[in-house]
Amino acid sequence: MDRRSVLKMGGGLSALAALSPESVIGRAEAKAEKELGKVKITDVKTASIKLGKYDVELVKVETDSGIYGLGETYPQTAGGAENIKHVKKAVIGKDPLQVEYLFYQMLVRGRRSSSRTGAMSGAIAGIETALWDLAGKILNMPVYKLLGGKFHDKLLIYHDTGGPKNSLDPKAWLAVAQESVEYGFKAFKFDFSQRHNPWSRSITGKELNGWIRIVEKTREYLGGDYYFGIDLKYRNSLPDAQRLINALEPYKLWFIEDPLPPLNIAAMKRITDESDIPIMTGEHFHTRQTWRELIETEACDYIHPDTQKCGGLLETKWIADWADLHYIPMACHNMCSPVGTMASAHVCTATRSFFTLESDSINIPHWKDIIVRQDGGKFYKDGYLTVSDKPGLGIELNEDVCKKHLSKGSSFFK
Ligand SMILES: [Mg+2]
Repeated sequence: MDRRSVLKMGGGLSALAALSPESVIGRAEAKAEKELGKVKITDVKTASIKLGKYDVELVKVETDSGIYGLGETYPQTAGGAENIKHVKKAVIGKDPLQVEYLFYQMLVRGRRSSSRTGAMSGAIAGIETALWDLAGKILNMPVYKLLGGKFHDKLLIYHDTGGPKNSLDPKAWLAVAQESVEYGFKAFKFDFSQRHNPWSRSITGKELNGWIRIVEKTREYLGGDYYFGIDLKYRNSLPDAQRLINALEPYKLWFIEDPLPPLNIAAMKRITDESDIPIMTGEHFHTRQTWRELIETEACDYIHPDTQKCGGLLETKWIADWADLHYIPMACHNMCSPVGTMASAHVCTATRSFFTLESDSINIPHWKDIIVRQDGGKFYKDGYLTVSDKPGLGIELNEDVCKKHLSKGSSFFK
């Protein structure tokens, strides 16, 4: 995009802004405007931060104008920083406003490391996210507007409680439910992840009856309107998943997530067609190619992409809009720090079929403190997340907190 066309676009949008008082679209800030069409990416750096049991990999895309963008890769991925080092060669020296073009350049650069179907798509997502943040800062616009605008004023957050994994005592699970309600969440899920035998994919009568009782007691506590889902963590055989889902049918569950291992779409479709509870899946899928059969055969009721894994913000929107042609709505999987969470929030805000975004780390004391919202707002409010109208992702890192929790051996973007 050259300077002339950007300014022309800015003028047109400013005219629209005059008609719409809530719109804050403006011209690029003076420093950036001078640089439009001339800004070049100079480097991509990473910093690994310890958040509870795992590390997150933050990404910084630097430019010769001094403006930078922030992103995050999919956490708990081996070689995240190495993958970024490999694909960053596709963007250095380039214009950061060419976001989709650079995404394709990175896919090509990472093709021998399965850039569409493996962990490389997470590294690419980290850089792509930082490019959107950068583009927003250059154009003085929030990322959701660059992605098409606001469909949702606030985003329903669902809390991944995990749960007391080895227990079949409803009281232990109720305590977890209570904690989630006390945090202010309006929606949560339990993970039924433990099995008597981790390999057989079978469920014993004791497990089946224990889980039915847990769901029954939790639903009694929550009342009928509360959003309450179950993640089966890909652990079941087809007949046992069917048996469990049929038994849970009376409890008005919001969804059953990942009832079967991920790669047999025909089996997933069978469960979806036969279940009265909506079936959700997708956290282990990558770029759009990996979604084709799932979406085209309508093998799930809800898609559940992870923005920082599937290739980034534009790829998430692409997948969601494709699923929307089949009237399949999008929930977003998410286990990122507030940086990746806010990035997901921007694409969720700009996606028509979005209905909920995951949060799983609220109990880690310094989790929300690694960033500062530029609008000074709280991170979550009453179980919802809103994006700000500040440029880019609308956040900055709290450097003191980040540096205090740097992972062993990591530098702070050096
Ligand atoms: Mg899951």
